[in-house]
Amino acid sequence: MRYLYVGATSELDGEADREALTMVRERMAEEFSRPVRELELPGIEFAFDAGRGQFGSIPVLEMLARACPADALKLLAITGRDLFIPVLTFVYGQAQLGGRVGVMSLARLRQEFYGLPPSREVFLDRTSKEALHEAGHMFGLVHCADRGCAMALATNIRQIDLKRAMFCASCAAQLRRRPKE
Ligand SMILES: [Zn+2]
Ligand SMILES: [Zn+2]
Repeated sequence: MRYLYVGATSELDGEADREALTMVRERMAEEFSRPVRELELPGIEFAFDAGRGQFGSIPVLEMLARACPADALKLLAITGRDLFIPVLTFVYGQAQLGGRVGVMSLARLRQEFYGLPPSREVFLDRTSKEALHEAGHMFGLVHCADRGCAMALATNIRQIDLKRAMFCASCAAQLRRRPKE
């Protein structure tokens, strides 16, 4: 049996972050019908880009590939740091397409990031969608034209809020057609 791992990077703390982690673990277990294991991950200071004041998601994926347990089918890391790839101002997350590792950031999922009062419901809802999105990539799904699907491309928070925290019928069917691993 291989497991889905959901790992927190070491800088995550606080009640909201812990609640988000627990929710992602439960949601992943339910969606992919797999046992989920926890993994403690190091901080990602090594990926800091002083010029941008953000953290590179590519070096984080490289670290995760090394940290990935042998019995892991997939490993999704959750960080509180703001992530980027060189061609974009930021990313909500990044995952290897059809690969074993992915990372998502909570930084831009909080209402506070946009100068709004905190909302537990909004934060958890966005976290659930982004976790499904990155997991979907790891399971081989590409971006979906259905704006309400978890696999729709989101480049701003409004586009995340327009999604449902689930896959559309077409993406769900693709997941079901995958050979059992
Ligand atoms: Zn994507
Ligand atoms: Zn879809």
